[in-house]
Amino acid sequence: MKILLIEDHKPDAVLLRELLMEDTWGSFYLVHAERLEEGVALLKQEHFDLVLLDLSLPDAFGHDTFGRLHQQAPNLPIIVLTGIDDEDLAIKLAQAGAQDYLVKNDLNNGILHRSIHYAIERKRAEEKLRLAATVFESTLEGILITDAKTNIISVNQALCSITGYCVEEFIESTPNLIKSERHSHVFFRQLWDILNKTGQWRGEIWNRRKNGETFPAWVNISAVPSSATSNISHYVAVFTEITELKLSEERLNYLAHHDPLTGLPNRLLFHDRLEQAVLQAQRSKHMIAVMFLDLDRFKAINDTLGHVIGDELLVAVAERLKHCARETDTIARLGGDEFAVIITRIIHEEDVEQVAQKIIQTLSSVYSVGGYEVFITASIGINLYPGIDNDRGKLLENADVAMYHAKQFGRNNYKFYSTDMNAVAFERLMLETNLRRALERQEFRLYYQPQIDMQSGIVNGVEALIRWQHPELGLVSPLEFIPLLEETGLILPVGEWVIRTACKQIREWLDAGFPSLIMAVNLSGRQFRQPNLIEMIEQALHEFNIPPAQLELELTESVMMDNLEETAETLKKLKLLGLKIAIDDFGTGVSSLGYLKHFPVDTLKISHDFVLNLPADSADASIASAVISLARNMQLSSVAEGVENQRQMDFLRSQDCERMQGFLFSRPIPAEQMTSLLTSWQGMGGK
Ligand code: C2E
Ligand code: MG
Ligand code: MG
Repeated sequence: MKILLIEDHKPDAVLLRELLMEDTWGSFYLVHAERLEEGVALLKQEHFDLVLLDLSLPDAFGHDTFGRLHQQAPNLPIIVLTGIDDEDLAIKLAQAGAQDYLVKNDLNNGILHRSIHYAIERKRAEEKLRLAATVFESTLEGILITDAKTNIISVNQALCSITGYCVEEFIESTPNLIKSERHSHVFFRQLWDILNKTGQWRGEIWNRRKNGETFPAWVNISAVPSSATSNISHYVAVFTEITELKLSEERLNYLAHHDPLTGLPNRLLFHDRLEQAVLQAQRSKHMIAVMFLDLDRFKAINDTLGHVIGDELLVAVAERLKHCARETDTIARLGGDEFAVIITRIIHEEDVEQVAQKIIQTLSSVYSVGGYEVFITASIGINLYPGIDNDRGKLLENADVAMYHAKQFGRNNYKFYSTDMNAVAFERLMLETNLRRALERQEFRLYYQPQIDMQSGIVNGVEALIRWQHPELGLVSPLEFIPLLEETGLILPVGEWVIRTACKQIREWLDAGFPSLIMAVNLSGRQFRQPNLIEMIEQALHEFNIPPAQLELELTESVMMDNLEETAETLKKLKLLGLKIAIDDFGTGVSSLGYLKHFPVDTLKISHDFVLNLPADSADASIASAVISLARNMQLSSVAEGVENQRQMDFLRSQDCERMQGFLFSRPIPAEQMTSLLTSWQGMGGK
């Protein structure tokens, strides 16, 4: 500790120094000045913790000495030393800010030390208080202090700015001044319970500003016990306004629950509302309806006019939908062109029908978007609760099923969910939707099954068989989806993909040095009748530079028999290209052998139906041998399908069947496996 001693009387100065050096509880560093001016000059240059000041100096005397020094260093503790004990002077000096007043004659080590110690302590306390006061006033947090009866005794400027009340309005009031009506009695009772039990409460409170506006604040309340008793003497509350935070929180919350394009509730919020609506329906004994709405042919608009216009149209649709329902109903966008509606408080089914009709009518009038006039309709599925299936999780799902039925029924209409829209029908419909996406998602695969030439024992052909690699269902058999592709017309793009992929594969095998294999590709009825079939195949052959004789098209009898003249015409053109034609599953269709003469066919494929029970089943055995000899007589090639075991093979060989295909040799396999199989068989085989 650094002390400045201003004392002109040398013996006194020596005495004081000695007293200080006797110190047992701290160390002092003493600087000595003999005149006031000298002391003042030192104070300007150096930092001191305390001054010991003799009042009678050569250049100053009495109260004036203190006054001049104190003016120079108002925050520095000054202990005054005098020769005489003058009560009046002592009081005056204390009032003027002197720390203490010591009479030199009475001085001993104890008195001096106590006085110094006390002066320093007091200075520290004052500094702390000054700091606290600065913090109190300069902090951005609002601070409110009450007494034990919650009368406000102090608030800071920040709280005034936050609330709009001035200090005077707060003082003598209670925190009720800024209370909003947002919280219940229970809330405050719990707050007080916790505060009184633990001495602390923290949480969010909505308060009210002077202008009536409510605002959220994070509030930290402490109960301050009095130092004498353990009773609470004050409460201190610190308010942090969190309006901004709340706003961004609300915004985030909004975004999480709404569709950004249309501003409608999204799927998440929809399910929330549905849950509430169900509970309410149970209480009120009313019905609710869930509508699943899908725009008809929206994709076509999106594809032709572009996404921007598509989006504009969706917004316009959302706008119109809003006008069709009541305030209490929910309209949500589930994604894409799918919307869902919850209609509450229904008494009769007809109420819902009216809404559905209104929606269909409202949506169907012309839209002008991006300078275009566009029409769009919607198909709606309706599911009532309580109703047929009261499983809450299925309310929307079944409305979706009903919507698919509405689509099937010709679009632009609505259908109520009913039990006959059973799962099988639904699955079929789901399959259809998935199938539509499968091509662009590249979920189709071609597998290849080898055909063995019985004379040479080598693979001289493969049949390309399509598979659907569905992300959830796994590998789907063509028997399950070909009829659907056929029905929906999707077989045309998919069929083209098959032809092109098969041609590409022939090219790869040719390039890899395998002897020319015949690639058999199946063709469905609709494919066979498509107007640009010839061009499409020609294009594929050309693009991959395939010798046409390596491609064999498999057609079933029933496809061929559909329109004999047209068939003959098309087959002729295909033959002109140089392709081979096979009749698949020969003998299973209703056909007359007569037409065989007229059609330029190369191969007959014996259906595995006839192979299955060979050689035991004599009827099948005679059919198989008849087909083989028919082929031979007409100079056609014969292929037996579905050969699974040695006995079947032996029988067919005995009948001189030319080629065989079946699990006995290999299942249909992916191209890479086929390549390795060809490689190993080439090594072993006749070549
Ligand atoms: P398909 O043309 O008669 O094809 C022969 C079917 O018999 C294939 O069924 C094949 O996997 C199966 N198979 C082969 N060997 C055996 C065997 O030893 N035992 C048994 N039990 N079955 C055997 P897959 O691949 O399920 O094809 C079914 C049908 O789907 C095909 O019958 C064909 O009509 C159609 N298909 C397959 N791919 C295509 C395609 O790309 N386009 C068209 N339009 N139809 C296709
Ligand atoms: Mg086939
Ligand atoms: Mg077949």
